[in-house]
Amino acid sequence: MYSKRFAKETFKETVKDNVKTLYRKKIEEATPQQIFQAVSYAVKDIIIDDWLATQAEYRKQDAKTVYYMSMEFLMGRALGNNLINMTAYKEVKEALEEMNIDLNAIEDQEPDAALGNGGLGRLAACFLDSLATLNYPAYGCGIRYRYGMFKQKIENGYQVETPDDWLMEGNPFELRREEYAKEIRFGGTIRFEKDPVTGKDKFIQENYESVMAIPYDMPIVGYGNHVVNTLRIWDAQAITNFSLESFDRGDYHKAVEQENLAKMIVDVLYPNDNHYAGKELRLKQQYFFISASLQAMIEKYKKDHDDIKKLYEKVKIQMNDTHPTVAVPELMRLLIDVEGLDWEEAWDVTTKTCAYTNHTIMSEALEKWPIDLFSKLLPRIYQIVQEIDRRFIEQVRRQYPGNEEKVRKMAILRDNQVRMAHMAIIAGFSVNGVAQLHTEILKHQELKDFYEMMPEKFNNKTNGITQRRFLLHGNPLLADWITGLIGDGWITDLSKISNLKPYVNDERFRKEFMQIKYKNKERLAKYIKEHNGIDVDPRSIFDVQVKRLHEYKRQLLNILHIMYLYNQIKEHPEMSFYPRTFIFGAKAAAGYLRAKETIKLINSVADVVNNDRSINGKIKVVFIEDYRVSNAELLFAAADVSEQISTASKEASGTGNMKFMLNGAPTLGTMDGANVEIVEEVGEENAFIFGLSSEEVINYENNGGYNPIDIYFNDWELKRVVDQLMDGTYANGNHEMYKNLYNALLNTQSTNKADMYFILKDFRSYAEAQKRVEAAYRDEQRWSRMAMLNTACSGKFTSDRTIEEYVQDIWKLEKVYVPSGQPE
Ligand SMILES: *Cc1c(COP(=O)(O)O)cnc(C)c1O
Repeated sequence: MYSKRFAKETFKETVKDNVKTLYRKKIEEATPQQIFQAVSYAVKDIIIDDWLATQAEYRKQDAKTVYYMSMEFLMGRALGNNLINMTAYKEVKEALEEMNIDLNAIEDQEPDAALGNGGLGRLAACFLDSLATLNYPAYGCGIRYRYGMFKQKIENGYQVETPDDWLMEGNPFELRREEYAKEIRFGGTIRFEKDPVTGKDKFIQENYESVMAIPYDMPIVGYGNHVVNTLRIWDAQAITNFSLESFDRGDYHKAVEQENLAKMIVDVLYPNDNHYAGKELRLKQQYFFISASLQAMIEKYKKDHDDIKKLYEKVKIQMNDTHPTVAVPELMRLLIDVEGLDWEEAWDVTTKTCAYTNHTIMSEALEKWPIDLFSKLLPRIYQIVQEIDRRFIEQVRRQYPGNEEKVRKMAILRDNQVRMAHMAIIAGFSVNGVAQLHTEILKHQELKDFYEMMPEKFNNKTNGITQRRFLLHGNPLLADWITGLIGDGWITDLSKISNLKPYVNDERFRKEFMQIKYKNKERLAKYIKEHNGIDVDPRSIFDVQVKRLHEYKRQLLNILHIMYLYNQIKEHPEMSFYPRTFIFGAKAAAGYLRAKETIKLINSVADVVNNDRSINGKIKVVFIEDYRVSNAELLFAAADVSEQISTASKEASGTGNMKFMLNGAPTLGTMDGANVEIVEEVGEENAFIFGLSSEEVINYENNGGYNPIDIYFNDWELKRVVDQLMDGTYANGNHEMYKNLYNALLNTQSTNKADMYFILKDFRSYAEAQKRVEAAYRDEQRWSRMAMLNTACSGKFTSDRTIEEYVQDIWKLEKVYVPSGQPE
């Protein structure tokens, strides 16, 4: 499709020219980083033509656009993915080979764009890929953090965080768009005035601080369709002329303050996953990128339309969790104070424009801003929130006369807090959960009152992942093999991957499938040797748990089970045991003590077990440093077992589970999140399910928890493992090192808070499921069938399917076909 411009010789010349003009060097003298830059600029050159053509076509067709608002976009690397989607990966690989350059090594020069924590941010990135591939007009709107997710170093077994200076060498794919800069105002006071002409109230913000928001645009290339959408991320800059003015007035401090505010605001991504921190700077970040994005959105709309009351016909705003919910009052403000609509008109537009995605039911993750903080930082926005709340409460009282309990539970403003989820639900025309089970829990537990009052808003959109990155790019051997068997339709229509099913019955194909898995395990073993210095045997079972470190995800259950196995092997060396490599990868939020202790425990167990020659290498434990999108691609491709062991009801969906499945790794998991739907697709006999159900967990929780003490005293093997947290076995004799973990499990001061994540409760069930894994793996015929069936049944879990559902049920977009932007 792009073969014309990828005429090898032209491309090679462009790369050489770029090295010359950028670095005054010959290609042979250039460093790998310089070659990465030169190649990326050559690729961007080609993308630009389609980018222009796409935006022109959208305007010509006056196409409705979705604005996907997200504090996080976990993009990973761009070069390889862009080449894949331009269907030029192999041509470029060849062209570079002819210049003695290895494309893989060049790709490794690119830092991950880690502008996100985990699943929520990666979902946003997968959605952008699917929107472009499916020909839908879309913007991603977010923040250009100066430092993304911290880099994780493991020192002496402990996590050490270092800054992620991802822009150090420059980002070749971004475009700075100074001309679209917007002013953002914080704080100050609001003065009323009656407009002498219209008689309307005017609201004037005074004594505020302000910064300029400068957009940087990144191209989002659709697969083989010439569509290039835009990820627009905002940088902050002090307002220079204001600063000079202040300086002239001698107000030097004011000028410096504005400079500092600008620097601070986009400085760093908050490294919390599924956790609310309530920091003022975080609210500043939220309002900053939302106000800028909405101002730009309205400005763009008004270029071609003069009736602002019909804005909703041309744009939809999807709020990725409550983080962007300030979009509701900010859109109201822009429509009322700037565009001159009255309240009812503005409310009509806002509630037909905004939709909300809920990502969690865990109370510690719910955003609740203290009113004094919120009202000081955003005084005009707060007035609008008060009015939204006042009118909503009126409605509740009309519908439930005399029921003040309802008002208390549902109001936006209560107990000196602004409850962002309530605002999102009240103003959004759609409220969706991210997996069937999660949406049911929302409807019947957490958001029951809202569901009863407005059932029509609630819907489910089970998450998905893009097969372009997590199979086509991440697992080229398997991708080519699949295409050889069933054609390449699966790349843009993953339901076609079910055409692999007939081949599952043929031993020859199962063997080939497992040979590819073996090669991917060798690739990962090499990575582990290079990064960890540990020898792992690719013939052992690769049992992988990679995801953010969180108590509810229960890495502790996994490592306690490894300690238990190690005890068993030591005690019964004669016991038959299939060699296992346990692989972990996880970042812990910097202030999350128990999470960090868990990382230390994993590394300490690894030290002991890996160096115990008496167990003949039956168990290896590996902690992959700095888990991120780029090394994730290697891990999914090489995994035999997918550990998805969250406490049932806690993992809203999970998407890692889907990436493993796509790459042929059966799930060892609880009936939680999208695991339920994975089992539905692949069959229970092709997964290893264990543990309490979500109903059972919720039941215990509603009745004050459970008491782990009985389990502890009645299971001596488990007791021994728990005691080993305190006896120094994995701490060089230190008895304090894991006391937080020990207390989390057994805290006898308040039994209702003991083992809140049901680790001891689920332990035996987990150990038994692990036994089933081993038995299944020993049976090569059976295992290869299970593994291959997982790939063949993964069709539902593409983000393409998810996006088509959002389009059908929520956004109602039309596909736009774009002619090639390549000059003849
Ligand atoms: C997919 C992904 C996640 C989410 O994993 P879960 O297991 O769903 O929590 C987190 N981080 C990275 C780098 C990912 O690719």
